[in-house]
Formats: sequence, structure tokens, C-alpha cells
Amino acid sequence: MNSFLVLFATFYSAQHLLDSWLTGLNIAHVRRHQDTIPPYFRDKIDGAAYGKSIAYTIEKARFGLVVSWLQIPIFWYLILSGFYGKVDLTIRSLEYGPVITGLAYLASVAAVFLAISVPFGLYSTFVIEQKYGFNRMTFQLWLFDLLKSVLLSIVIGGPVLAAMLWFMDSHLRGVWWLYTWTLLSLVQIFIAAVFPVFLLPLFNKLTPLEDGHLKQEILGLARKINFRLSGIYTMDGSKRSTHSNAFFAGLGKLRRIVLFDTLVKSLTELELLAVLAHEMGHNVKKHVRTGLIVSSATSLAGLYVLSLLVHQPWFYGAFQFTHPSAHAAVLIFMKTAGSFTHFFSPLMSILSRKHEYEADRFAVEVMAQPQPMIEGLAKLTRDNLANLTPHPWYSFFYYSHPTVMERIRALEKPDVAKVP
Ligand SMILES: [Zn+2]
Repeated sequence: MNSFLVLFATFYSAQHLLDSWLTGLNIAHVRRHQDTIPPYFRDKIDGAAYGKSIAYTIEKARFGLVVSWLQIPIFWYLILSGFYGKVDLTIRSLEYGPVITGLAYLASVAAVFLAISVPFGLYSTFVIEQKYGFNRMTFQLWLFDLLKSVLLSIVIGGPVLAAMLWFMDSHLRGVWWLYTWTLLSLVQIFIAAVFPVFLLPLFNKLTPLEDGHLKQEILGLARKINFRLSGIYTMDGSKRSTHSNAFFAGLGKLRRIVLFDTLVKSLTELELLAVLAHEMGHNVKKHVRTGLIVSSATSLAGLYVLSLLVHQPWFYGAFQFTHPSAHAAVLIFMKTAGSFTHFFSPLMSILSRKHEYEADRFAVEVMAQPQPMIEGLAKLTRDNLANLTPHPWYSFFYYSHPTVMERIRALEKPDVAKVP
């Protein structure tokens, strides 16, 4: 038996056991609290809405468990049956060059995984989200979304992947990982910059926010903290789902605020401003930059590790490839790396939660009072049927944001509420 495969299987099993155990703990914890609304929310959420949030949380968690356990046998069947090596031999027999062969290979495998994930995606949207009144998508819209995403991956991902395979195969062998990393970083920055102008409109209609009090207030807020802004838009998020959100997107002159129409409908003007102040806080406090640096350092480390693995015969043997190649290495890496890095994910969650607390604090300072942020959070929680009572270990491991109660408690701290 291949030692790398054994090592990977160990991590893979540990990952799935840990996830299932934490999810089980979380379901039990939510159940234990199902009869009592947390005190803070008693005047904000009625029994029916609370019950609905419990049922929604449990149904999503159970579905996640089912998906994960159904995928395990499929995943291992593909590895142990030699599927990856066989597809490789078939595509090799067509005798195209290494880059075309690599692209065709990775596209074929991606198509198989897409096909496996489609039924789960359909169930999640048209059964679960539908049942709780979130889904607004028609099947036609869902299908168009899928086709557009596939096309976009081909148009943007295809050339990047082709360049990477070419770097790996050509005379750049020794330092291909540095070239690839530079290219990936440039593409990432480019996409982040043009996202709101070229990519987002492919899926959603963006409408400039009409002149009026809200717009003046938002511009005033941006001026107050020297936040450069080139546009405020509302987005028809409601055509897909009633979940609500707001975000900043784009870099430099292309930076825009995007408000979901569902959010504008649900929050008061002050609450909306507080939520935007929080988002601006992420920029002012340099969280966006830190995030970019961390993700860029992670991909550099990952590519470097891959550059060591491409020379090891046992690496290819694990997935029963008979010929070492750039695309085989990329595939094995993509399928295995997640299980090894999974155990570091709480580190990222901790950093992200720290940023959320800082952005909340920033919003309180800018608004000179904590109430709008608190009320806005409470409404978002209610509208999204968010879990009010996650198990502490579960939220510690997975949550990118502190729980609602943790955030509200931090917002209510007197030192936070002081007026500057
Ligand atoms: Zn945030």
C-alpha cells in the first residue's frame, strides 16, 4: 500500500469524523435550547420564528452530514478503482501536447465532480431553501447561473491553468511555482478590481442608489472617515433568495458599495449606515489587505510544497497514475491538500472573528452609539433564521464571525460605547 495514500486516508478520516462529531454536538445543543428563546431575543423574535430557525439549522446540518457521508464512498471509489489513471491514459492516447492534454484531463475530472454535486445543489435550493421561504429562483435561472459559472471558469480559469501547466512542463521547471504564484496573484488582484463592473452584472442587475436622504447619509459617512467610494448600488438579490447582505467590491476607482434590495427593505436608515460603517471598518482597519496577504502567502506555500511533490513517484502512485505529469500532480494536490490543511482552519476563523469584532467596534465609534449596529444585527439574524444557540466548539471551529450573542455582548460593553 502506498504510504502517502495511507497518510492521506488518515487525515481524510480524521477530518470527516471531526466534522460529523462537531455537527452532531451542534444539533444536540440546538435541540437542548429549542424550548427557550435566548433572553436577549425574547422581544425581538416570536416563538414561531425561533422554532423555524431551529428547524432550519437542524435540517441544513443533517443535509450537510448526508452529503458528506454519501460523497466518501464515491471519492474513494474513484481513487481505488484507478479511475484517475485510466482517464489519463485515454486522454494521452489522443496525443495532443502536454498543455492541451492537461487541460482536457482536468476539465473531464471537474465535469465528473460537477455532475456529482448537481443533485445536492438542487436539493439544497429547491427543497430546503424553498421550504423555509428563502428561495426565489426558478429552475431556469438556476440552470443559467450554472452555465454562466462554468463558462466563466473556462474563460478565466482555462488560460491561467494552461499557463501553470506550461510553466511546470517547460524549461521553468525549477521555479515554475514562483511564476505561477505571481500570475495567480496578478489575476486575483485583477478580478477583485473589476468584479463589480464586469463579473457581478453577469449575474445581477445593479442599480445606482437613487438620490435622496440615504445616499447623502452614506456619502457623508464615507467622507467622515476618508473612505474613497465611486458608487453606491442596489442589487436585485431578491431574484435568487430572500437572504440579505451588503458588501464592498472592486479596487481603487472601481470600488462600489453594493446593497441587497432585501437589506434596504428590512433595515432602517441608521441600521443600514451602521452595517456599512462595519464594512468600511474592514477597509480602514486594513483587514482586506491582511486577508489578501494571508491568502497569497498560503498559496505560495502550497505551490512550493507542490513543487517538491512533483518529483516523487509515490505521489503519482497514490492515485494510480502510470505517467507522472503536471496535470496529474495538480489533480492529486487539489483532491488531497484540503484534508491536511483542514486542521489549521480554526486559525483562520480566529483571525477573521478578531477582524469582525474590530469592524463592529469601528461601526460603534463612527455612529457614536452601539444601538443601530445591535438592532441591525438582530434583524439580520432574525431574517436569515440564523442559529442563535450554536455549540461553542462548533462555532469556535467553523464560524468566520462571532456568534450574534457574542457580537451583541461586545457591542454593549461600555468602553466600546464611548462617544469619541
Ligand atoms: Zn464583517
